[in-house]
Amino acid sequence: MMEVHNLSYRYTEEWVLKDICFSLSKGEKAALFGVNGSGKTSLLKLMDGLLFPQKGEVRFNGTKLTKSRLKEKHFRRGFRSSVGLLFQHPDVMLFNPTVYEELAFGPKQLGDPHAEEKIKYWADKLHLTPLLEQSPLKLSGGEKQRTALASVLITGPEVLLLDEPFASLDPRATGWLIDFLHDLDVTFLVALHNMDLAREISHRVLVLSEKHELIFDGNMHEFADNRDLLVKAGLWHSHSGKEPHTHHF
Ligand code: ADP
Repeated sequence: MMEVHNLSYRYTEEWVLKDICFSLSKGEKAALFGVNGSGKTSLLKLMDGLLFPQKGEVRFNGTKLTKSRLKEKHFRRGFRSSVGLLFQHPDVMLFNPTVYEELAFGPKQLGDPHAEEKIKYWADKLHLTPLLEQSPLKLSGGEKQRTALASVLITGPEVLLLDEPFASLDPRATGWLIDFLHDLDVTFLVALHNMDLAREISHRVLVLSEKHELIFDGNMHEFADNRDLLVKAGLWHSHSGKEPHTHHF
């Protein structure tokens, strides 16, 4: 469904992703680990057609993502409704005067005749119904994130890319999102820093190193048992003269 072939990317001189290869099959749920700056956000943006690699390629259902391809209205509409990216900070995704209009934006752009039903359905599913007339700017962090998530899911994506969605959630909101993602019938790749959360929603783990290479693509158990990999993923460390330990389980 989504293939990343020998992808390398740089913003300036330094490569921030080097020769990355992996693919996501339909229905697969995978976790993406890597220390800050390893390239997780850049990779998700490349998979969402917001950035384009200098080397290698991203393919969605066999079609290579290029700037010119995404300028074609038909392809862009299909791709934008099929692949959704939830940014780490939902504020950058919210620009409409009300939650209702935020949800309605995608379906309206696509001329979807079932927009009203879908708004009602996703507002209900994401507990946004009482907030529909409110300004997204006045919502709490968790409410903003649910609004951003609803605005992505309402177009019926086949692939969902999530950039550290748990980073600013309290434990209750985290638990809710975990259950929600667990039950969601969508292929997804989620960047995060917590093994316990990853274990609840995916069996597959991808790890980017500090050197911006994909150093692991495999099973969660294998990852959890490999101390060297956990250190490289920034999940296990030693400081203040203490025994090596983790804060992320
Ligand atoms: P992560 O999500 O793992 O923290 P990022 O993809 O955000 O990593 O960043 C990877 C590298 O790219 C970092 O060194 C970061 O400073 C750099 N970077 C990110 N965005 C930009 C940008 N717009 N311009 C230049 N460098 C950037």
